[in-house]
Amino acid sequence: MNDSNCLFCKIAEGEIKADVIHESDSVLAFRDINPQAPTHVLIIPRQHIATINDLQDKDAGIIGSLFAAARDIAKAEGVHTDGYRVTMNCNKAAGQTVFHLHLHLLGGRNFAWPPG
Ligand code: AMP
Ligand code: ZN
Repeated sequence: MNDSNCLFCKIAEGEIKADVIHESDSVLAFRDINPQAPTHVLIIPRQHIATINDLQDKDAGIIGSLFAAARDIAKAEGVHTDGYRVTMNCNKAAGQTVFHLHLHLLGGRNFAWPPG
């Protein structure tokens, strides 16, 4: 189910250390190593799914869990009232560099729109 060459699978399995702030049966959240905002958390499914293009209809529950975790983490980080951004990059043109699905949760500053 998991990919032995995948960085985020290794983090999910505890093989590579990360600053984990939230865990459940299906998802894991940890701080981004190169934060782009005062709060920058990555929320990943434990299951290896490379990109949004690889999602199957049966994965709907996993996606729900990613957003439920984002809601809870935003509150725990105290960014829920001012506002925050959740982003998922898909493939090269969008800037995806790690090919294990992840939601970026960014908060603690103002964000521009349209994004760069
Ligand atoms: P993306 O460019 O959307 O694929 O996002 C990948 C993110 O993973 C980037 O924001 C990186 O800073 C972050 N990242 C890469 N390696 C690690 C790591 N070992 N621990 C935490 N975050 C990481
Ligand atoms: Zn993976």
